[in-house]
Amino acid sequence: MIEPEPEKYIVGAARCESYDPQEVKDALCLAISRAGAPEIKDGSVLIKTNMLSPSAPDRAVTTHPEVLRAISDGMRANGNSVHIADNPGYIFSDKGNLLKATGVGGLAREGVSVGLLSDQGVRSVRNDAFRVLEEARVSNRYLDAPFVINAAKLKTHIETEVSCCIKNIFGTADTATRKKCHGSASETVLAEAITDLFIIRPPDFNVVDAILAMEGDGPSYGKPKKTGWILAGTNALAVDWAASVIMCYKNPLEIPLMAAAASRGIGPRDRSQIELVGAEWDELPRNGFKKSTSLVRLLPTFLRGAAHRFVTLRPELIREQCVRCGICGRVCPVDAITGEAGAYPEINRQSCVKCLCCHEMCPTGAMAVHKNFLAAIAGKLRKSGA
Ligand code: SF4
Ligand code: SF4
Repeated sequence: MIEPEPEKYIVGAARCESYDPQEVKDALCLAISRAGAPEIKDGSVLIKTNMLSPSAPDRAVTTHPEVLRAISDGMRANGNSVHIADNPGYIFSDKGNLLKATGVGGLAREGVSVGLLSDQGVRSVRNDAFRVLEEARVSNRYLDAPFVINAAKLKTHIETEVSCCIKNIFGTADTATRKKCHGSASETVLAEAITDLFIIRPPDFNVVDAILAMEGDGPSYGKPKKTGWILAGTNALAVDWAASVIMCYKNPLEIPLMAAAASRGIGPRDRSQIELVGAEWDELPRNGFKKSTSLVRLLPTFLRGAAHRFVTLRPELIREQCVRCGICGRVCPVDAITGEAGAYPEINRQSCVKCLCCHEMCPTGAMAVHKNFLAAIAGKLRKSGA
């Protein structure tokens, strides 16, 4: 259900230069109080984190455990029970390894549990407001949670450009739903599909770990970049707006996912609708931040839906790095990767829709991204700040 538009969408911002536990705690308290602390009635909070893969916190792939600790400590101190969870990317079913590598496992204690969002099953959801999905299969735990805090990591994303609050909710769907969204071969359709999922059950509050963000070709193989902020707010699109400004976007609505969300009326359509508390807008950008490679923003608006035809970012195997684990074949939404068990993967270029899920999920970085001439130019323009 679309909430009535407030006079202003409030986003709280606080500087945070490191993951020192006390510094994170202080900054989080500031950001939340500036945004307006949420009222939690049922005494139970689900923290939807970003636990994409079993990656160490300093790689900036996942929400840092110190941020999760600070949120859960605050919730517990107010008498709430807390569960921290996510659906990792498709195939990382080794829960113990995932929780250990990301540091999330160490957060479990009295009043705080951790796990996978799928551990209570999923159910099918249909919604008259869907634009591209017919139905979605979504985590029961997420749908039934009385209060959800969306604890997103600020990252670039080679398909959606930015991964933050709205994109983080994509992880509440099951593998089949996510594969279907990625198999569309259109960035515009993917953006609408992610927004369809988001509107099913928008989170009640959002916190962004933008202390160490990811730049370049995220969300798995970009580079960590210190950005030094914690953001908070009730409206995910408003918080994502501020997060995109940290990434040096002058007009966040040029990002297809942000435009799709704004067109649904689920948040601000103009910066004047956002009240940023705790910072001036021109303090946010991290100078020199490298955006993801994508020509979409450089194309005229009427061509953006067809961008995939012009920009060929395609997967390319680096054999020396491949451990022949078969993960890429399992994540491919259109079964374009073949090969015997234990053999090197082979990509069928006719069927490949260039979603780059194989690149995102390859555990060794062996499935690299090959850029065509136009994409390479776009990358250079971005490095020079265009
Ligand atoms: S490319 Fe990556 S995911 Fe695919 S088999 Fe090789 S190591 Fe595994
Ligand atoms: S081969 Fe890789 S890029 Fe191509 S469709 Fe499959 S997962 Fe996507």
